[in-house]
Amino acid sequence: MGDMVKIYRSKARSGLSEAEVDSLLASSRRNNHALGIGGMLLFGGGCFLQILEGPGPAVERVYRRILGDPRHIDAVLLYNGKGEPRRFVGWAMGFSLLEPFAHIRSVAEFLGHDKAYHPTSFGSDAALRLLLDLRRECRGSDADHATCALAARAPDAAETVLRRTAAS
Ligand code: FAD
Repeated sequence: MGDMVKIYRSKARSGLSEAEVDSLLASSRRNNHALGIGGMLLFGGGCFLQILEGPGPAVERVYRRILGDPRHIDAVLLYNGKGEPRRFVGWAMGFSLLEPFAHIRSVAEFLGHDKAYHPTSFGSDAALRLLLDLRRECRGSDADHATCALAARAPDAAETVLRRTAAS
């Protein structure tokens, strides 16, 4: 029996602060770990892109909660699959800021599209490519089975900041 996989994108509420993103990440990791949900959340150009993987009912419940969250708007479901293998095993919710990785083609595509925010012009294939590219960026580090944040806020943009969670 495989898992349910959902990928969506959305626009951050105007003025959303780093502290608010940190706080939503913390509660996401706590909740997801308890529910057996994994995935990754990307943030760049004022937009989110997230993959949620796990038992169907739990993923549906969390997704519905996310849709009602005032910290973002205009959510568009890009992919909704059932009976799938997990791509983010052991990640309660990986996180990456995108701007430091604009040299990666899939990242540049996402950031470019988001300037105009054409929800339909960045589809499920592009989204999955982007997520897997970012997962690869974390591989080879301690982050393989943890969550990781690749931080633009670090003085050196290339610096990788690892955030371990109880999920690892
Ligand atoms: P708490 O985190 O304790 O929050 C209590 C309530 O206050 C919630 O209703 C919350 O929405 C609201 N709240 C808290 N801070 C703010 C704020 N700054 N502005 C407005 N309302 C606020 N949750 C998950 O469980 N898993 C995920 O993977 C996940 N991904 C998310 C991705 C995005 C892009 C966003 C915007 C939210 C995500 N969330 C996720 C959060 C989700 O929408 C709920 O807020 C969260 O699940 C509620 O967790 P909690 O019951 O522990 O509440």
